[in-house]
Amino acid sequence: MGIKEWLFRPLAEVTKEPIEDIVKSVQPITQNTSEVIEEDSKQLIIKKKPTAVFRPSTWKEYIGQEKAKDTMKSYIKAMLKREQVLGHVIIHGPAGTGKTTLAEIIANELNVKIQEVIAGSVSDAYMLIELIRKSKKGAVFIDEVHALSRNTVEQLYTVMEDFKFNGKKLNKFTLIGATTELGEIIKDRRPFYDRFKIIIELENYTVSNMAYIAEQYKNRTFPDDDFNRENYFAIARNSRGIPRMAIRLLEATVYIEDITQVLKNFSIIQDGYTEKDLKTLQYIAKGKKGVGMQSIASYLGTSSQGYLYEIEPYLLQKGLLVRSPRGRCLSKEGYEMIEKLRKVKGK
Ligand code: ADP
Repeated sequence: MGIKEWLFRPLAEVTKEPIEDIVKSVQPITQNTSEVIEEDSKQLIIKKKPTAVFRPSTWKEYIGQEKAKDTMKSYIKAMLKREQVLGHVIIHGPAGTGKTTLAEIIANELNVKIQEVIAGSVSDAYMLIELIRKSKKGAVFIDEVHALSRNTVEQLYTVMEDFKFNGKKLNKFTLIGATTELGEIIKDRRPFYDRFKIIIELENYTVSNMAYIAEQYKNRTFPDDDFNRENYFAIARNSRGIPRMAIRLLEATVYIEDITQVLKNFSIIQDGYTEKDLKTLQYIAKGKKGVGMQSIASYLGTSSQGYLYEIEPYLLQKGLLVRSPRGRCLSKEGYEMIEKLRKVKGK
């Protein structure tokens, strides 16, 4: 379906999911809104505060990523049939693109518990052993798994392969690792990488995927708010292919009710390109022979991590930048984009 047909498809299609399903999948947040509202303007508070934060918990709610879904569905079906524990899974993709959500759906579909932890907070393998025990033959999710210390990773070899630690038997479990840096793991931690049985590489989201994600979130989180359907398209185009960004823009648009103002607040010039992107492109354009990453980061007043995770991926994905041993250079499209963005700004 093209984006135009999608935008104007019959309303029945948009709202066809039964309300029971919606209620089931929405998890309440602790700060309940309905009790605080009584005094002032009831309407306003009820409508403007999300009553629950929506997170997909089924395949149907996990938009796009057909390849990942297909792969996981077939493994899960096979393992359930054989009553075996699913092999370890590693999920690769940029920040905010659905790695944690996918891990939770996998556990949900297997009908097992999932224990979640971020690698930076894991000091040694003992912490993980505790989680493995707690998972009761379920899943242990490690976010940013490339950041585990070398020592911890080495201790995990026999844990992953033989379900043994220090000679003692453990319950079986599925390790689900998420990473933004698969290349680093393959290069520096090859034996660890080899112990994962299923490798999932998330794909780029299309604009129409992003529009669906924004719409679904709106319907589940702000069901009673009026919303101009054309905003979904604007949000989708400006969210850089990152679901977390689409949700941020959607929430702001529900609250502020003016998409132009929202884009301004996020310093977005056009198609998700921000003032910072423009500054980055202009700075690189000046250094004819390639510019170092540190130098760009300090020019922007950000850390090299900030530059690497927040700015560069989109510029690389769009083919505006080229990475070479001498540093970053602009492609022809990069130079053209500077002109385009300057024109839009000048209007
Ligand atoms: P990551 O773990 O990769 O940083 P998350 O799984 O936390 O990303 O996703 C960020 C947000 O985007 C969450 O609110 C999640 O529900 C939403 N999201 C991510 N991917 C999808 C998707 N494919 N369909 C619908 N919502 C998604």
